[in-house]
Amino acid sequence: MIPYGTQNIAPEDILAVESVLKSAWLTQGPAIERFEQLVAEHCGSKYAVATCNATSALHIACLASGLKAGDALWTSPISFVASANCALYCGAHPDFVDIDPASYNLSVVALQKRLDAAARNNCLPKILVPVHFAGQSCAMAEIAELAQSYKVAVIEDASHAIGGKYRGWPIGACAYSDMTIFSFHPVKIITSGEGGMILTNREDLYERLVRLRSHGITRDATLMESESEGPWYYQQLELGFNYRMTDIQAALGASQMQRLDTMIARRQDLFEQYSGLLEGLPITLPWQSPGTVSANHLYVIRLRSDKLTKTRRQVVEEMRAKGIGVNVHYIPIHMQPYYRRLGFNAGDFPVAEQYYQEAITLPLYFGMTDSDQARVATTLRQVLQ
Ligand SMILES: *Cc1c(COP(=O)(O)O)cnc(C)c1O
Repeated sequence: MIPYGTQNIAPEDILAVESVLKSAWLTQGPAIERFEQLVAEHCGSKYAVATCNATSALHIACLASGLKAGDALWTSPISFVASANCALYCGAHPDFVDIDPASYNLSVVALQKRLDAAARNNCLPKILVPVHFAGQSCAMAEIAELAQSYKVAVIEDASHAIGGKYRGWPIGACAYSDMTIFSFHPVKIITSGEGGMILTNREDLYERLVRLRSHGITRDATLMESESEGPWYYQQLELGFNYRMTDIQAALGASQMQRLDTMIARRQDLFEQYSGLLEGLPITLPWQSPGTVSANHLYVIRLRSDKLTKTRRQVVEEMRAKGIGVNVHYIPIHMQPYYRRLGFNAGDFPVAEQYYQEAITLPLYFGMTDSDQARVATTLRQVLQ
């Protein structure tokens, strides 16, 4: 089976992990800082905080932004559930902004309308979480302008997007946001096994994130509420978590960072090759927005239901039966049973729901060969005939 995505592990990754295993530090050691520095340098942000996954990163980023019970957080319905669940972890209310029909990112037009209405009704969200779907940046300049005028914090969910660019800025530079989140799950662009990271340019947020990552504890005497009692002393100043990454994971992540540019270049080649290989089929190819360089995490096509007799389900099942591991990203979050119980309904976000009916993710990953890719295209051509 050709998977829709998979990790790439090189011999030097294995050596990097092995050297941590032979060192004194399996966690809370020097590999974490090295990985954080590599990512911050690559992205041009001042600070980076590694976490055990992107879900925990989203959680503490929300807490650091002051999200609490009674507040609202808005995100895109076409994302992984973690983009919205972070609101619920903080006792806040998640809500959604419908997507743009071309980029599948949250729509700036819909956002403007909803913000105007929310301002009139005195129910503005505290946080907006734009998700860079499939690795392509949202319209961050427009989003940042709206967020500033309505005083909404912006946390970029860039789980798909490390290595991408927006208007010349690397994603993660936080040029248009307060914080940016990356995921290093094996299916994403680079991996640390499990792992996440938060980037920011704000020292206050950085200090808060470091503390929330590790139980709300500080060892810095200048931050303590009373005098230090000795070299063993620490104080818990607030309720935090154990959301730390291990050094084993950080060494893998740091080693993978060395190949980030190569990985993005190969993904871009595969993306471009698909356009030729899929020409003439009754499908809509993904759109690349001018001014962005996508990390090309996912290659999503849409079936032209007006030109096809087969359903999306039939196409997916036949492709899988022929060894092509196609997938669907994503089931709209508000359609999940848990979210329906919170009051969301079919019809709430029609552009997202229509997209979901037609979307199929084709395989695309760094180690994919040209002949694997040709097999995907030929199989799709047969199935759509
Ligand atoms: C994968 C993903 C997450 C969660 O990442 P983990 O590292 O698995 O916690 C969050 N948001 C989006 C958009 C994702 O794709």
